Amino acid sequence: MPPKLALAPAHGSTSGYTDSERLAALNWLANVESAFLACRGRHNFPKLLLTEGQLPPGIRAERQADRSYNITETCPDCGTRRTYSTVPDGWLGGLKIHYRYEWPDGYRVPPGAMTWITLDDMKAEQWTRVREALEAADKLARKAKRQAGAAAGPRAVPAVRFNGGA
Ligand SMILES: [Zn+2]
Repeated sequence: MPPKLALAPAHGSTSGYTDSERLAALNWLANVESAFLACRGRHNFPKLLLTEGQLPPGIRAERQADRSYNITETCPDCGTRRTYSTVPDGWLGGLKIHYRYEWPDGYRVPPGAMTWITLDDMKAEQWTRVREALEAADKLARKAKRQAGAAAGPRAVPAVRFNGGA
């Protein structure tokens, strides 16, 4: 089922925006990989955690000539990479960290598309895909259960005893 797209830009005025951008947004949302939708705003970057002296898969720390490090993390779900740098012999923390991102092909929305779709549209599309898959699986499970029940023949009705009366 194609996603429902706003008929007007998500962020207000229609001036300067084109139908071709809207169609590109619709097309992107309908065809984008589910991992790209699921990762919006919530990548699964590996932690900076040594296990037996080794960083986990998907994270690299490269020492630079000035004794700083460039740390590159790769999301195992979507393949997005982000790199940041420490300061020499220390940590450049908090909001000072500047992440440089590299996105896999197809991750980024086409130019102008964010005029037409919001993060919530992406999350709604992802949920639609998940919900439809869950419902299809549930339907199959119910059908299998019905068939198993039919193969087993009619269910025995438990004997009911009535107590007393008179
Ligand atoms: Zn990701």
